[in-house]
Amino acid sequence: MENEDEQWIKGNLGEEKESGGEFEFECFLSTDGKHTVRILAKTPEGRKDGLSYAQKVYDRILVRYGTKQAQAVKEYKNGGVHCKTCNAIAQEKSGTTKDGRAWKGIFCSAEKDHVEWVR
Ligand SMILES: [Zn+2]
Repeated sequence: MENEDEQWIKGNLGEEKESGGEFEFECFLSTDGKHTVRILAKTPEGRKDGLSYAQKVYDRILVRYGTKQAQAVKEYKNGGVHCKTCNAIAQEKSGTTKDGRAWKGIFCSAEKDHVEWVR
């Protein structure tokens, strides 16, 4: 973790809340750009404080990592590909299915239905 981030966490995340709304917080950072911030609260105060906190974290993620589209652009600049259907920026991804078969595809950043499977 970079110094700048540590400072930000100390400044924004470590403070005790004065209004004391209780909430649970989860944050998922994903390499595909689908970052998720989640709060869970049982009281109105918790929801209010939780939402405000989640927005702070979300804004920070947005500044640091950008949107999925921005991430696709970044990858494209590093030698990416285009969607064959609409010519938008696309990402090549590969993996293995649950039953062990390898897959590889080119995924359009604009339309999730535009997938070109590579054999
Ligand atoms: Zn497309």
